[in-house]
Amino acid sequence: MSTVRAGSLGALRERNRLRVIDALRERGAISRADIARQTGLSRSTVSSLVADLQAAGLVVEREGAAGPRGPEGGRPPVLIALDQSAGALVGIDFGHRHARVAVSDLSFTVLAERVAEIDVDTAGHDALDLAAGVAAQLLEEAGVEPGRVLAAGMGLPGPIDRETGLVHSRAILPSLDGIDTVAEMEQRLGLPVHLDNDANVGALGESTFGAGAGVGVMAYLRLSAGIGAGLVIGGRPFRGARGVAGEIGHVLVDPQGPICRCGNRGCLETFASPPALCELLRRSHGPITVPQLLALALDGDAGCRRVIHDAGRVVGRAVADLCNFINPDLVVVGGELSAAGDLLLDPIRDAVARFAIPAASEDVRITAGVLGERAEVLGALALAGHEADDPLTVPVSHMSHQWRRSR
Ligand SMILES: [Zn+2]
Repeated sequence: MSTVRAGSLGALRERNRLRVIDALRERGAISRADIARQTGLSRSTVSSLVADLQAAGLVVEREGAAGPRGPEGGRPPVLIALDQSAGALVGIDFGHRHARVAVSDLSFTVLAERVAEIDVDTAGHDALDLAAGVAAQLLEEAGVEPGRVLAAGMGLPGPIDRETGLVHSRAILPSLDGIDTVAEMEQRLGLPVHLDNDANVGALGESTFGAGAGVGVMAYLRLSAGIGAGLVIGGRPFRGARGVAGEIGHVLVDPQGPICRCGNRGCLETFASPPALCELLRRSHGPITVPQLLALALDGDAGCRRVIHDAGRVVGRAVADLCNFINPDLVVVGGELSAAGDLLLDPIRDAVARFAIPAASEDVRITAGVLGERAEVLGALALAGHEADDPLTVPVSHMSHQWRRSR
């Protein structure tokens, strides 16, 4: 498969191809005419794209059921359906300290998945190499020929400029600051790559496959080494003007608080991220890892329960403001810390009830994600597999291609 970097025509065709696949995934077996209606593409474009997909073995033709015949009768239409097993997608989730990679078929059934520890903050290019290597291994293990892979989706733990597709914070993701990670990854994988930040792909994961399925207004909160929120409004991801919406980890909690890696002081992340909680326990418990902290808390350790409870209160205070701003139906709490369950969720709920206006807090549901630490990688698969028309949801990589073309 060639990459979309070959030029604007190639990029457009690639995008239209994904739109046809999206229509088939959504509607099952449908006629070429229905594909044209669903995608808004011309019939001749659809015929040509379907021919490509047939040649690649990704779709099959089926005889349509004979429906009620009109006065003139007529043959049942030929229906086109995805051969779900024929195509594949790659999802990559980078945290600050790990890379998780998954390979799925076109119905998002995961065929292989692996997580590798790596310090992404300092080892940017090595982390990209590692993830690409793991993807190649997984494709081989799953028996997927590389030519059958349509696209990759990728989540990165830092703010991504919607116009340029570049990470734009030296402070938050120093090793990849200013790097064109889409180009780097496309070169390594030989695939079109769609990029978003980690909280947004987590939101996409939970809203596509998890706790937020069918919810109109949802906020997904990722409580990991970085804290961020992914917003889904009207069932679609909302990224803001430059792609920085949802940076809740850097709202102010205490102007005299610790210096944050973003350069401000007393951000939420300095009080409620799992590494900050481990640091709080250093004096009483010695060096402690996040899994140890969670296990001790669930086992009744008072100090560990206390830091999680206090983190919940401070997160809840910020979520209360978020509820006043966007009035969500649902807040899904994900990331590493969400494994604490109600120990974390109850103080979040209490703070929202206390600090949000009643009209915003009364009906909002606050729940843990159902996908756990896999929300982001599954969202990355969804990002790879879906194509949308709404400019708010156009994957960042396409925005960046448009940007490149205009120069
Ligand atoms: Zn900060």
